[in-house]
Amino acid sequence: MTIPLIDQLADASLLKEQAYIGGRWVDAQSNNTFDVVDPATQKIIARVADLGAAETAQAIELADTAMREWRAKAPKQRSDILERWYQLIVDNTEDLAIIMSAEQGKMLAESRGEIAYSASFIKWFAEEGKRVYGDVISSAQTDRRGITIKQAIGVVAAITPWNFPSAMITRKVAPALAVGCAVVLKPAAETPLSALALAELAHRAELPAGLLNIITGVDAVAIGGELTSNKRVKKLTFTGSTPVGKLLMAQCANTVKRTSMELGGNAPIVIFDDADLDLVMPGIINAKFRNSGQTCISANRILVQKGIYDTFIARLQDAASTFNFGTYSDGNSTHGPLITQTAVDNVDAKVQHAVAQGANLVCGGEKNDSTGYFYPATILTDLTREMAIFNEEIFGPVAAIYPFDTEQQAIDMSNDTPFGLAAYVYTESMRRSWRVAEALEYGMVGVNETAISAETVPFGGVKESGQGREGSKYGLDDYLEIKYICFGSMDK
Ligand code: NAP
Repeated sequence: MTIPLIDQLADASLLKEQAYIGGRWVDAQSNNTFDVVDPATQKIIARVADLGAAETAQAIELADTAMREWRAKAPKQRSDILERWYQLIVDNTEDLAIIMSAEQGKMLAESRGEIAYSASFIKWFAEEGKRVYGDVISSAQTDRRGITIKQAIGVVAAITPWNFPSAMITRKVAPALAVGCAVVLKPAAETPLSALALAELAHRAELPAGLLNIITGVDAVAIGGELTSNKRVKKLTFTGSTPVGKLLMAQCANTVKRTSMELGGNAPIVIFDDADLDLVMPGIINAKFRNSGQTCISANRILVQKGIYDTFIARLQDAASTFNFGTYSDGNSTHGPLITQTAVDNVDAKVQHAVAQGANLVCGGEKNDSTGYFYPATILTDLTREMAIFNEEIFGPVAAIYPFDTEQQAIDMSNDTPFGLAAYVYTESMRRSWRVAEALEYGMVGVNETAISAETVPFGGVKESGQGREGSKYGLDDYLEIKYICFGSMDK
């Protein structure tokens, strides 16, 4: 028998079903709720307030008011509160991980890892927020002096996906709060509980009311419509699919809001003949099968040079045969479900289409009708760039393998996509690694490494994978405006 989520938690008060607006826990004006489902068991684990445009507008107004005092504080005062929030997240890691696994399906070890990663952004930006510098500019006229200062951009709207229900939030909220902004955030409808638990801990850290607002709801169009049209909102930060990102950018145009976009990927992983396969195998398992393949930087196209092609496939098949798909609460599982039945159907359709187009199915590739949204580890080989799957983000545990002959061919294939988020190269040649990394049209390149993300480095894409960078010393820029101040008559 499955233990109810609330009974799995040491601190049951972290499980929230109301939205968080203006420092208060609130129901929807309509009193409607929506179900949150454990994707491994298909059981309802919570019923969460289903808000819409009216509550979103109210939250924006409260954020606008709260921000006035917040941005006037010394950075150190804001930092102290963020540090407290960070510590509370660390202290409650186990409960937060259980909540995440229950609503998202990933294994507990992965959830614990995400909580640590999520918290790291708060710690990082608590520090970085104290290091916002302007310039003193050489004047073109003898009687003038110019300086620049950087100021909080204003109320920030944030919309986040379900695949990383905690980290995608803190990467946005921490830099925004650190520089003096307030945030109105809509988490994915599949995974609102992690967002609400973060808000509860921010509340305990005494983050002033109105600075962080969580709008839960299933009507993304209504909530997103208010976030993108409301004049009080000065910036939208979005992580999600490229089609929705494009739509939101268009919606923001009318009020000329600043946008930052973390969108879809189609990552190539290029494995050359001289690669060390003992390095490649853990790298590919991480890049392809972590979160059951549901990450934006998943190895979507595995390009393998012909000299090691057969050996690589045999080793990958061996590794995949050890995977055990199941629920997080079952100690034997290594991998979780996909997020919904629709996701299973989409992944399966891509696999079946590739097979129909001539791909070789090495293992997996079959839906089963057991409980939970599971899809087996699948390996497709002998793929070509003419097949539809070459251009699609798979978002599932499907390794799509393409043979290649030359370095130039691998570069051309890698760049033959509208996306440009992450790419990976495995080679023992230092010269080749530089050459290929420089030639790849991507925001991030991992050389002999696929675990490339951390709070200290800039995460983001080029082309249709987005704009802006999260994390690192650049992560504050998206939440700051530069103001030039001219001092005249300085010779008087
Ligand atoms: P999605 O369908 O675009 O949804 C993302 C968020 O947008 C959710 O909160 C969703 O709300 C909301 N949304 C959907 N339609 C909307 C609309 N018309 N107006 C306003 N908001 C709307 O993406 P997803 O399936 O959740 O996430 C997977 C995608 O995210 C993949 O493409 C992945 O590559 C990308 N991703 C990118 C990064 C990165 O850093 N580049 C990181 C993680 C994921 P509902 O849940 O309520 O529909």
